[in-house]
Amino acid sequence: HIVVLGSTNMDLVAYVSRAPQRGETVTGREFRTIPGGKGANQAVAAARAGADVSMIGAVGNDAYGSQLRSTLENSGVGTGHLRTAEDASGTAHIVVDDEGGNAIVVIPAANGTVTGLAPGDESLIATADALLLQLEIPLTAVVEAARAAHRHGVRTILTPAPVQPMPPELLVVTDLLVPNEHEAAALTGLTDPHKAATALLDQVPEVVVTLGAAGSLHAARSLAEPVAVPAPSVTAVDSTGAGDTFVGALAVALAEGRPMPDALAWAAAAGALSVQRPGASASMPYRPEIEARYTS
Ligand code: ADP
Repeated sequence: HIVVLGSTNMDLVAYVSRAPQRGETVTGREFRTIPGGKGANQAVAAARAGADVSMIGAVGNDAYGSQLRSTLENSGVGTGHLRTAEDASGTAHIVVDDEGGNAIVVIPAANGTVTGLAPGDESLIATADALLLQLEIPLTAVVEAARAAHRHGVRTILTPAPVQPMPPELLVVTDLLVPNEHEAAALTGLTDPHKAATALLDQVPEVVVTLGAAGSLHAARSLAEPVAVPAPSVTAVDSTGAGDTFVGALAVALAEGRPMPDALAWAAAAGALSVQRPGASASMPYRPEIEARYTS
């Protein structure tokens, strides 16, 4: 059983040949609404990878809120602890240009109301094999949930995105930190992922730095030095959500008791599958596909 605490967002995406300058209006080509948010994406990834998953967070009391909730339910994610806030749903306003570049405004709205745990959340966390956390909701809630997990001996897995300084009281209850290489560099000031991963071990006992097509790097206080884990070589068409797919699958494998090297190879199979298809949560693979792609 995996519990995810985090954000739900509706991504409002405008596809244009060129993004407008200030004061300018351009005519775009297409508009799509795509359910997202790092919390929801990790929950969907873990559910598709075969786990029993519950999501703690909040959607808004608007049409997007119902859509975000049903997207989670359709993927098998439990939403009994997902609140409906007296606010709009979180939205991400995204302009994607023809070169694949993007500009994004995120309005947290309902996500900003998740400032702590609600009654019943701690008992849910206590039953989990792992708690997945990111930083798209107020830090107060992330800290409270991580502490609750720690008290109950539940493994905490934190994706430090959007990257920001983290209080020591969060790091002290983080079992596994999973930054991508940019986040690892931002957190440490070190652009070499090897050095960054090693430096992060001063703050948390175990780190996995994801390196896109280059795979990942596993560092732990129990290892003499970081170990590189390759990613399957595939043709990538859209890497949106690769990190969330990877973490969701990693949590499932660890919850099933697989040793870290096997769990990382399994997560790499899931990540590689997700980049071969367009979309974030839409591209996330189901368990049989991961099993077929996985080579230990
Ligand atoms: P994020 O999406 O957070 O930026 P990464 O780009 O590092 O994270 O991707 C996360 C994981 O997804 C990688 O560690 C890798 O296993 C997998 N992945 C990402 N891009 C590719 C790719 N082009 N080919 C194969 N696997 C990939």
